[in-house]
Amino acid sequence: RGICRFSTAASLEVPIKPPVKVEYTQLFINGQFVDAASGKTFQTLDPRTAEVIAHVAEGDAEDINRAVAAARKAFDEGPWPKLTAYERQRILLRFADLVEEHNDEIAALETWDNGKPYEQAAKIEVPMFVRLMRYYAGWADKIHGMTVPADGPYHVQTLHEPIGVAGQIIPWNFPLLMYAWKVGPALACGNTVVLKTAEQTPLSALYVTKLFHEAGLPSGVLNIVSGFGPTAGAALCSHMDVDKLAFTGSTETGKIILELAARSNLKPVTLELGGKSPFIVCEDADVDNAVELAHFALFFNQGQCCCAGSRTYVHERVYDEFVEKAKARALKRSVGDPFRQGMEQGPQVDSEQFEKVLRYIRSGVDSGATLETGGDRFGEKGYYIKPTVFSNVQDDMLIAKDEIFGPVQSILQYKDLDEVIRRANNSRYGLAAGVFTQSLETANTLMRALRVGTVWINCFDTFDAAIPFGGYKMSGIGREKGEYSLKNYLQVKAVVTPLKNPAWL
Ligand code: NAD
Repeated sequence: RGICRFSTAASLEVPIKPPVKVEYTQLFINGQFVDAASGKTFQTLDPRTAEVIAHVAEGDAEDINRAVAAARKAFDEGPWPKLTAYERQRILLRFADLVEEHNDEIAALETWDNGKPYEQAAKIEVPMFVRLMRYYAGWADKIHGMTVPADGPYHVQTLHEPIGVAGQIIPWNFPLLMYAWKVGPALACGNTVVLKTAEQTPLSALYVTKLFHEAGLPSGVLNIVSGFGPTAGAALCSHMDVDKLAFTGSTETGKIILELAARSNLKPVTLELGGKSPFIVCEDADVDNAVELAHFALFFNQGQCCCAGSRTYVHERVYDEFVEKAKARALKRSVGDPFRQGMEQGPQVDSEQFEKVLRYIRSGVDSGATLETGGDRFGEKGYYIKPTVFSNVQDDMLIAKDEIFGPVQSILQYKDLDEVIRRANNSRYGLAAGVFTQSLETANTLMRALRVGTVWINCFDTFDAAIPFGGYKMSGIGREKGEYSLKNYLQVKAVVTPLKNPAWL
């Protein structure tokens, strides 16, 4: 029970040496690496062992002030918004090329700091980062306003202008991708940025930002402040010189951020928050394929995805077979040192998340769900958790309501489509949903009925630069990625001029 495929606990004893060195640990303000004003540092830990990787400069309100001042100057006096769109585009494209050249070092840093499988970082996330940057570079020279009609002799046009200084706060589950989702559109639109990284994973952002400056990004345009939420993060949200905020993280923190923005200068806020996404397996589903996709939907990235398919609803006709096979699939999942080849799952990011996931597992057992497999830690060191599957989960159990953010699959049974629509929508979240069916009619019914920002039909976690992402209800405000993300970083100005003897109106 709970013995996973490739690794044994013993193989975790000697962690593989990451093929990269930590070069940058200071804050990056106004084009330079600098110490925190307080001189303080914090430790970033290797989730495989809980050992210290590096001591990182700990930014707080004073450093946020310095970073915002640099971003303000680079916006108000230039050069960034005063460069032509083509020049900004060239810098973004050069940056993408440099990241591509350093793919493996960047992936190694991400794995070391976060615990995600190196193959995932190297083959999916860094290439996706590059794609996102190229995608936004492509937008830089396609941002323009319109001419619009008026009921009179006027020339009316709209200008799409950058907002100004964007404050951005990102989480630890996809440090690089969150950087790209936020920094890409902000800079393509001509804004300047202060980015606060997550305290668990500060390293990859510093590395790539150095490359960005090698690509020609002018000083002050992008500033990186490592540090904690209630200090550096809150100072950024409250700052009177920050014109826009974008945040990804928990719903609880999202509420605090909205409040801080409202109490200071009413800066607009986009929020990408938590989820409890249903994955609906219909009665006509091919069970083997459904099991595989539902497994991926939940366990990808150690279950640390805001859109994880964390409520697996299975039709009663295929339920028993599904549970058996889901358990077998979880038992086959390869868990171990994320630098080892073939690993599907590494450790959770830190002790806090590790303990939280184990608490939810205990609550699942206590509330009467059936623990099919997993349920405890894997190995003696670090933050590994066995892939865990619960069956007989009821909607009112905590494991079916809360975002666990770990490798814990909850399987629930349903009888008909109306019932599963009602139950799937009965959540304070509305980020995403998965639908697995062979019927076009069923897919069409579900895609419209589900109150979520993304519906994946017979696929899951299909992300691409142009596909918008965001939540209904308490999963957030606004959309990121795609053309939709640009409007988060643009103001619209109407300009009206009287016309004398116009040839047409
Ligand atoms: P969090 O929301 O506390 O942290 C996310 C970011 O917000 C970090 O950079 C953090 O420093 C910052 N932050 C925290 N408090 C702040 C404040 N008062 N003012 C400004 N910034 C602040 O998330 P967490 O504690 O890292 O994780 C807790 C839970 O959040 C997880 O278990 C998971 O359920 C959820 N989560 C969701 C996502 C997502 O992608 N939607 C990502 C990470 C975590």
